[in-house]
Amino acid sequence: MRRILVAGNWKMNGSIESIKSLIDGVKQGMSGVKSTDVVVCPPAIYIPEVASLIEGTAIALGSQNICDQDSGAYTGEVAGSMLKEYGCKYAIVGHSERRSLYGESNELVAKRYAAARRAGLTPVLCVGELLEEREQGITEEVVGKQLDAVLELEGIASFADAVIAYEPVWAIGTGKTATPDQAQEVHAFIRKKLAGLDATIAENIVIQYGGSVKGSNAVELFGMQDIDGGLIGGAALDANEFLAICQAAN
Ligand code: PEP
Repeated sequence: MRRILVAGNWKMNGSIESIKSLIDGVKQGMSGVKSTDVVVCPPAIYIPEVASLIEGTAIALGSQNICDQDSGAYTGEVAGSMLKEYGCKYAIVGHSERRSLYGESNELVAKRYAAARRAGLTPVLCVGELLEEREQGITEEVVGKQLDAVLELEGIASFADAVIAYEPVWAIGTGKTATPDQAQEVHAFIRKKLAGLDATIAENIVIQYGGSVKGSNAVELFGMQDIDGGLIGGAALDANEFLAICQAAN
């Protein structure tokens, strides 16, 4: 039985003051969150602060990215061991903003995924198609290639301790959510592709949906057979909205 996983990706937002009140708000509502695993992914510089703010709670910590190398001359990067030292459990890799704004290829994303695993972090592998790719009818081809790069480097066994986030790029930060049926179709494709390699891993892996999830649409999305929670951007910056999403699985 898969558990619902809701992760808030704060992106490059916040200040010491605002993250304190955001975490305060989320903590206050956590008693109302049943059977959902909750994660927050702050900007890297705030990870130590958030780690101490969530100590003793059920909220887990994740990073928004991770260096593909373990240590050395990689200016501006953050190593998996450093994230682990501050209590991170998850590392997002291949977010569409990293792919499109910073030119991260499928191969580099796969290396970041591998680095997360070496550090003992659970990678949250983001995949998803652009609007023009959906319109061309090549969504499965695009998502399939994004998965293949990781499968080639790390193998199907690595997915026993990984999370996949299907995030159609046209739905991220746009207010345009994929319909539950549109999302379910791609989630089912991902699970079936993995099932071709290992049925147990495919059955157990958590596949989140991401793209303009809000309290008002989370129940319907998370109710679909192959949707196991969400990766949340904008709505994760508002404690009440984020909690409403976390409570959608109740
Ligand atoms: C995201 O950044 O992963 C995301 C899904 O953003 P939003 O919820 O704002 O669409």
